Amino acid sequence: MAECKNMYINGEWVAAESKETLEIVNPANGESVGTVAFGDEREAGKAIDAAHEAFASWSRLTARERSKYLYTLSELVKKNRDELAEIITLEMGKPLIEAKGEVLGASDNFLWYAEEAKRVYGETVPSSVPNKRIMVLRQPVGVVGAITPWNFPVNMVARKIAPALAAGCTVVLKPAESTPLSAIRLFELIEQAGFPKGVVNLVIGKPEPIGREFMDNPKLSKIAFTGSTRVGKLLMEGAAKQVKRVSMELGGHAPFIVFDDADLDEAVKGLFESKFRNSGQMCICTNRLYVHEDVADAFTEKLVERLKRTNVGDGRTKGTEIGPLVNQRALDKVLEHIEDAKEKGAQVVYGGKQLTEGEYAKGYFCEPTVIVGVNAEMKIAQEETFGPVVPLIRFRDEDAVIQQANDSRYGLAAYVYTRDNQRCFRMAEQLEYGIVGINDGSTTQTQAPFGGFKESGIGREGGRYGMDEYLETKFVSFGL
Ligand code: NAP
Repeated sequence: MAECKNMYINGEWVAAESKETLEIVNPANGESVGTVAFGDEREAGKAIDAAHEAFASWSRLTARERSKYLYTLSELVKKNRDELAEIITLEMGKPLIEAKGEVLGASDNFLWYAEEAKRVYGETVPSSVPNKRIMVLRQPVGVVGAITPWNFPVNMVARKIAPALAAGCTVVLKPAESTPLSAIRLFELIEQAGFPKGVVNLVIGKPEPIGREFMDNPKLSKIAFTGSTRVGKLLMEGAAKQVKRVSMELGGHAPFIVFDDADLDEAVKGLFESKFRNSGQMCICTNRLYVHEDVADAFTEKLVERLKRTNVGDGRTKGTEIGPLVNQRALDKVLEHIEDAKEKGAQVVYGGKQLTEGEYAKGYFCEPTVIVGVNAEMKIAQEETFGPVVPLIRFRDEDAVIQQANDSRYGLAAYVYTRDNQRCFRMAEQLEYGIVGINDGSTTQTQAPFGGFKESGIGREGGRYGMDEYLETKFVSFGL
C-alpha cells in the first residue's frame, strides 16, 4: 500500500513516523472510504515546533496581510463546497444538504474573521497622574492547539482556526479520528491559499499522546477544544500545570419548553430542527422536551405526524432528513437511553428501535423516536443522548419548569416557545444557558457568541467574541 502522507506539518505532507494508518468507514453502510496516516506525540511535537517558529513572522504581519489569506481561503472553501460536503457525508453520515450548509458556514467564518482581523483595537486609558500615559494592546496568545469533534468536521475547525489566524496566532489542529478526510481536504485548500509554512498544521492520530503533548509542550500557549465534557476536563487539568489558556466548547443537554399559548406548528418545526438535525448529534440538541399539560397531547400528535413523513437513510440519497449515527458506540448509547427510560416506566409512542433491514442493514440507523412519561431519574433526562430521541415531560407551572430546565450540570442551549412577550423576557433572563432560542429552534449564526454556562464550557466562539479567546491584553505604562 502506498504510504499515507496526509498530515500537514511545516508546509509538507507527511506520514506517521510510526507508519501506522487508520481506515475511515462510512457509517451508512460500513464501507471503507479511505485510509489516513495515524500519528502521535512525535508529529504533534514537530507541528508545535513549526507553529512556534512561524509565529514570529505571522504575528508581525499587518492585520490586512493576514486578512488576505483568510479571504482567499473563504472563497476556496465556497468554491469547493460540493466536494467538501460529499466527504463530510461519506465519513460521518449527515444528509448532503446539511453538509453543504456546514461548508458554507465554514466559508462564512473565514470571511467574518478576515474582516474582524482588521478590528483588533487597543485602547488608551486616562492616567491618574500627569506624567504617565496608559496604553492597552491586544496581542495574539501564541501557538494554539485545536482539537475538534466529528459532528461538524469542517465548521468546527473553521471556528477555531479562523479567529486564531486572524488574531495572529499559529495553529496545530487535531481533528476527530472518525472524520480526518474533510480536514485533509480543507488543509489542501489552506495550502492552495498560500499560507506561509508552519502557520497552520494538521496532525491526525492517537488522541491521548497528542493531547498530552499539547498540555506539556511549553511552546504551545493555548488549547481550544470542542468535544465532550469528560475530555474537556482532562485537558483543563493538564493545561493548568503551565497555566495555559483554554477555551472549551463542551457537552449540552438542552431543554425545549412549549407553553400552552405557543404556536404548536412552529414549535414542532423548531423542535425538529433542534432535535433531528445531524441525527440528533449536536451539542445544542434538545435533550428534554417540556410541554404544558394542556397542549401536550396535541403537540405529541403533531410531532408524530411530522416524524411519519421523515426520511431516514443514507445522507447521499436525495430527500434524506436523518442519516445514520456516527458509529456502533453512538447507536448503543441511544438504544440504552431508550431501554432505560422504558424500564423506568416511560412509553415509546413513536419509533424506539434500531433500523436493520434492507438499506439500513450495514449502517448505524435508529428510528426517530418519541418517548412520553419521562422523569428526572431516567438517564435520558440527565445524560447527553446524542441521537434522534425526544423525551417528553409534561409541566403545569412556569416557575417549576424554569427550575427543572436549570437543574442540569450543562448550560449550553435552551429553547422556549410562547406568544407571551413578557414571558419571553422572563425566560431569556432566567434560563441558565449560554444560548436561548425564543421561538427559534435553529439559533447558530457566525456573528453571534456561541458557548455554554456551567459544565458546557468556558469561552465563546463566533463574531467579535471569538477573537477575544485568541488575544492577550497588555498594559503599557509610558512615563513622560
Ligand atoms: P470527544 O470524545 O470528547 O472527542 C472530541 C475530540 O477530542 C476528538 O478529536 C477526540 O479525538 C479528542 N480526544 C478524545 N480523547 C482525548 C484526550 N484524552 N486528549 C485529547 N484529545 C482527546 O467528543 P466527541 O464524541 O467526538 O464529540 C461529541 C461531544 O462534543 C459531545 O459531548 C458534544 O456535545 C460536544 N460538542 C460540543 C460543541 C460545542 O460547541 N459546545 C460542539 C460540538 C460538539 P478522537 O476522535 O481521536 O477520539
